[in-house]
Amino acid sequence: MNSFSYIQVSDVESALREAARPGSRFLGAGTNLLDLMKGGVERPAHLVDVTRLPFAEIRELPEGGLRIGAMVSNSAAASHPLVRARYPLLSQALLAGASPQLRNMATVGGNLLQRTRCHYFYDTAFAACNKRKPGSGCAALEGENRIHAILGASESCIAVHPSDMAVALAALDATVRVRGLKGERAIAYADFHRLPGETPQRDTNLAQGELITAVDLPPSAFSKAFYLKVRDRASYAFALVSVAAALELEGDTVRAARIALGGIAHKPWRAERAEELLAGKRLEPHTLRAAAAAAVEGAKPRRDNAFKITLAQRAIVRAVQTAAGMA
Ligand SMILES: Cc1cc2nc3c(=O)[nH]c(=O)nc-3n(C[C@H](O)[C@H](O)[C@H](O)COP(=O)(O)OP(=O)(O)OC[C@H]3O[C@@H](n4cnc5c(N)ncnc54)[C@H](O)[C@@H]3O)c2cc1C
Repeated sequence: MNSFSYIQVSDVESALREAARPGSRFLGAGTNLLDLMKGGVERPAHLVDVTRLPFAEIRELPEGGLRIGAMVSNSAAASHPLVRARYPLLSQALLAGASPQLRNMATVGGNLLQRTRCHYFYDTAFAACNKRKPGSGCAALEGENRIHAILGASESCIAVHPSDMAVALAALDATVRVRGLKGERAIAYADFHRLPGETPQRDTNLAQGELITAVDLPPSAFSKAFYLKVRDRASYAFALVSVAAALELEGDTVRAARIALGGIAHKPWRAERAEELLAGKRLEPHTLRAAAAAAVEGAKPRRDNAFKITLAQRAIVRAVQTAAGMA
């Protein structure tokens, strides 16, 4: 058994001070971190419970955006009237995740930092996992890799990011607000999660001890939106492939499109080339197919997951058509 200390904090300064202790980790609802501790994957020496910090509100920003506090539960974020009205994509993505019980507990900050569901990361019986133990290798490369990445992977790690919410936030161009001992900063969503490269143990560009305080959403004209999640079970399962599609339409012509993919890379994958191919066009089948093909250009399948290349393209077509009210 690993012993650890625990403290609950109610102000940011205490949280940051406690987090500076060696081996410290912030604790949200614990639905991911405690699981990982029970399995021996994570072994923090000190837990800093941040659930009482004053970041459990959703409020409008002056220029028309929305600020979602890091301690807002996934359920509260999904059901908030302003989220549902202005960012239906985010509400749908949140509701596609986990189960009602988990969503009632899980925090927005914790959701962003949940760790990969790669079998070899989760099971310490496997010696090789560069994410869990840097330099030990990647058992998934030659192992069971049906759920793994087809884009942006490296020979060090082919794990995927598991969050549904994160895929919608990528499409919506969110900003993550963080506080550290050196002050406050805002991280553009595209720069928040990382591709694995040679350092797959680092999931994000957060510095050690930095606390997520909120997620900001810019004003959105993308009223037509759909989050499509393809998974092995209808509930309580992570995405094999997911698509966050949002459209700004002028008649039947796309003025602008946003497409992000989940389940295919180490971070939510923004399909910018596909967005460009849809802009200014009517949603004809050949246009949709070309955009979907562009989204998976350069995909590198492994032994068990080539099906994701086709699945992702079909999911993009269906998500965009559904967002546009065509399906
Ligand atoms: C059975 C099961 C099924 C699931 N299915 C899905 C699914 O389909 N889709 C999906 O998206 N998710 C799914 N999840 C994951 C779930 O969404 C996450 O476990 C949850 O969102 C994590 O939030 P938390 O508050 O419990 O985080 P915690 O477990 O408390 O923390 C997670 C990580 O975030 C860090 N952290 C927490 N808060 C902060 C903060 N404010 N600042 C900095 N660091 C912080 C912690 O140190 C830790 O590293 C599932 C989980 C389970 C157990």
